Amino acid sequence: MTNIMKRLIHFSLSIFVVFLFACTEGDSSTIVNKKGDDKQEVNKVSHPKNIILMIGDGMGVSQISAALTIRRDSLNIARCKYIGFSKTSSFDEFITDSGASGTAMSTGNKTNNQYLAVDPQGHSLPTILEIAEENGLSTGLVATSSITHATPASFIAHNVDRGDYEAIALDFLKTDIDVFIGGGKNYFAARKDGLNLLDSLKARNYYLIYNSGELAKIDSGKIAGLFYDDHPPKYSEGRGSMLKTSALKAIEILEMNDMGFFMMIEGSQIDWAGHDNDSEYLMDETLDFDDAVGAVLDFAEKNMETLVIITADHETGGYAINGGDLQEGKVEGAFTSGGHTGVMVPVFAFGPGAEEFIGIYENTEIFFKCMKAFGFSQ
Ligand code: MG
Ligand code: ZN
Repeated sequence: MTNIMKRLIHFSLSIFVVFLFACTEGDSSTIVNKKGDDKQEVNKVSHPKNIILMIGDGMGVSQISAALTIRRDSLNIARCKYIGFSKTSSFDEFITDSGASGTAMSTGNKTNNQYLAVDPQGHSLPTILEIAEENGLSTGLVATSSITHATPASFIAHNVDRGDYEAIALDFLKTDIDVFIGGGKNYFAARKDGLNLLDSLKARNYYLIYNSGELAKIDSGKIAGLFYDDHPPKYSEGRGSMLKTSALKAIEILEMNDMGFFMMIEGSQIDWAGHDNDSEYLMDETLDFDDAVGAVLDFAEKNMETLVIITADHETGGYAINGGDLQEGKVEGAFTSGGHTGVMVPVFAFGPGAEEFIGIYENTEIFFKCMKAFGFSQ
């Protein structure tokens, strides 16, 4: 379909929606009158000041079920009461990759696999992070992969090749992102083109932070956290609570902005465990992600102005649970694939605006729901 056709359809749909609204106006005012104060209360809290989008890369329902069993029915994700499902197909493939699905969530557009925040023709698309920046909000990205890897990159970089890490690193300097923490130092410092982006970051008043100890000492300002040359290690191989502590530090910095903030936090290696068909690795990473979810939900519970969305970009491994034991907290997991699968993924929401996330919808809707929650226009 041509862009003009798409726009025409979009335009006619908008007219239709306005028409529907006009028709039902009488009814809804009756509802407001009947419910009075209750209705006002709902309106008052349904626009969040902050949005935290948490992506468990490759985390499907089976991964969550297994983690729930292992944790004997007490998973932080389960604290969310509003739950939906997102359909993950990309523009050019039934089975998406993380570039296309990240782009769907960050821009509201379906694109080709391997692409980052560009349309199928390669044209740049504004991301929710960039739009939040333009509207005066603070922004952040935290991941347990290189910060230039597909999922975080789809929120800040524009490229038809998700593997173009050096160009992706350069795109971090084209925004005013306040906090980013992950691996990938080499793409900023040891580049083939000889540029030293660490100096450029420093010139823009970023604190360059290389480990959790240094991070703990920072309590304001902009943070470029590059803890590893490439990817952080597995949780079981010494990464520790990097995801949770980084997320909490980012929140501490970002919430200083009275205008609000947008942050994406990724449990990156749930996906890699799925590709490896490694159940133990899979559960370590899923539970590490859930620990971060717990810390974020604790903040959101107290803050009351933060919408938290917890989802996945796709499922990985075709993971299944073929047996288990609730008392012992054990599952018999099995994999049907070494790649991604086409199953819908769950979307959990918490806080003001969470009720918008129920139902079954395309992954692109996550972008539009965030835009609406912030009150941003397209
Ligand atoms: Mg990822
Ligand atoms: Zn993958």
